[in-house]
Amino acid sequence: MKSLDELTFDNRFARLGDAFSTEVLPDPVDAPRLVVASEAAMALLDLAPSEAATPLFADVFSGHKLWDHAAPRAMVYSGHQFGSYNPRLGDGRGLLLGEVVNDAGEHWDLHLKGAGLTPYSRMGDGRAVLRSSIREFLASEALHALGIPTTRALCVTASDTPVWREKQERAAMLLRLAPSHVRFGHFEYFYYTRQHEQLSALADHVLAAHFAPCLEQNNPHQAMFTAVVERTAELVAGWQAYGFNHGVMNTDNMSILGLTFDFGPYAFLDDFDAHFICNHSDSTGRYSFSNQVPIAHWNLSALAQALSPFVEVDALRAALELFLPIYQAKYHDLMRKRLGLSTAESDDPELFGRLLQLMQNSAVDYTLFFRRLGELPAEQALHALRDDFIDRPGFDQWGAALLARLARQPNETQPARQARMQAANPLYILRNYLAQTAIEAAEQGDYTEVRRLHAVLTRPFEEQSGMQHYAQRPPDWGKHLEISCSS
Ligand code: AMP
Ligand code: MG
Repeated sequence: MKSLDELTFDNRFARLGDAFSTEVLPDPVDAPRLVVASEAAMALLDLAPSEAATPLFADVFSGHKLWDHAAPRAMVYSGHQFGSYNPRLGDGRGLLLGEVVNDAGEHWDLHLKGAGLTPYSRMGDGRAVLRSSIREFLASEALHALGIPTTRALCVTASDTPVWREKQERAAMLLRLAPSHVRFGHFEYFYYTRQHEQLSALADHVLAAHFAPCLEQNNPHQAMFTAVVERTAELVAGWQAYGFNHGVMNTDNMSILGLTFDFGPYAFLDDFDAHFICNHSDSTGRYSFSNQVPIAHWNLSALAQALSPFVEVDALRAALELFLPIYQAKYHDLMRKRLGLSTAESDDPELFGRLLQLMQNSAVDYTLFFRRLGELPAEQALHALRDDFIDRPGFDQWGAALLARLARQPNETQPARQARMQAANPLYILRNYLAQTAIEAAEQGDYTEVRRLHAVLTRPFEEQSGMQHYAQRPPDWGKHLEISCSS
């Protein structure tokens, strides 16, 4: 275990030079204090948990101090936002502080979000508010605990520095960790500005650092694109299976590593609703829950365009065609686990589809349904659950189909079945109202609720004593919260 000043840096992205990023120092905020830190994320850097309590920790992650070997830089990228190309985005309020190499030899980008103005700030103030920083912290650590690929969050610091959104709020900073912060939009930027040499250097960097096995293929760029298609398909399968709505799937928010990236007005579903739109400025529902699948494919086509100087169009098309089958295989696999199916049958997708339709019609809680299904022997569980459905004959028919399906797979004891199902079905999920409660306390200077909620969400599959209230359906006030899109 290391202390904060013992980290080793190897700033590969910074070394790509000024065409890719601009040196900018973090702009410190007033009276910084630590809101919450993730011990699990600290462990990725080999940091001792006790480091979070040191004054240096809050100073570093609020822009007051910096390592000598850091190389803070704002990255340039562009991207398609809501389907339209925006030629210049970039890190408008976040800085890549540097890349830490841990004892296992892994590189971790340290990205300080809310670190002040950069050449890419456009009309913004370079800051992040406490509310959105807490939301990103909780969501990234919660998704990770669910087994869904995501950027990680090391900590959030709060401050007294005022910032203006719909009302006056306070600036905060979030330290984000990821093996890379390269987005689809990085490739688009160099492609559309016709900087072929830089586009090529970016691809070489990403290949060497993150897709080394692709370098052994005939066409490494094609192999890398195929790998990105696979990872993105599997990512979205995780979102759909666990009810996560990202909300702003612009290509500048798509990670080249297939990680959940850039958290805005996201939501985990409470009641199942395929058409749910968490982003209330998304008036057409472009980024609705069920649209995440076709939109991920659309975004991959945008990336394909940017890689067209290296890969034949037919090969790009062929790779894009892999998206849907890979997505479906992964999604079906996850849904089988959620229903306790240990074998695969070709009609299984129909069973999932019918269940979701029934849940949709009766506004059934998406998380608790699966959890409860595992808690009792299947027949008893179905009997207990049927009251949640308006269409009881429809649900009974579905239940009979599930029982028949279960009878065709190897028998197991109820404790074994329950253990297997609980390992696939979280009890605790980051419901919007839980985040909101924690945020309201934090805005009053009380961070205990954020910390407790974070702790509960790091073990979502395990029942934790005294934490029953985190496993409940939202109260009426918490059902239709409008989460501000400003952040
Ligand atoms: P996002 O919606 O957070 O993905 O941000 C889209 C773009 O706007 C990125 O280039 C951000 O860096 C930039 N941006 C968002 N908020 C701010 C802000 N408060 N100040 C400066 N730039 C921002
Ligand atoms: Mg973004």
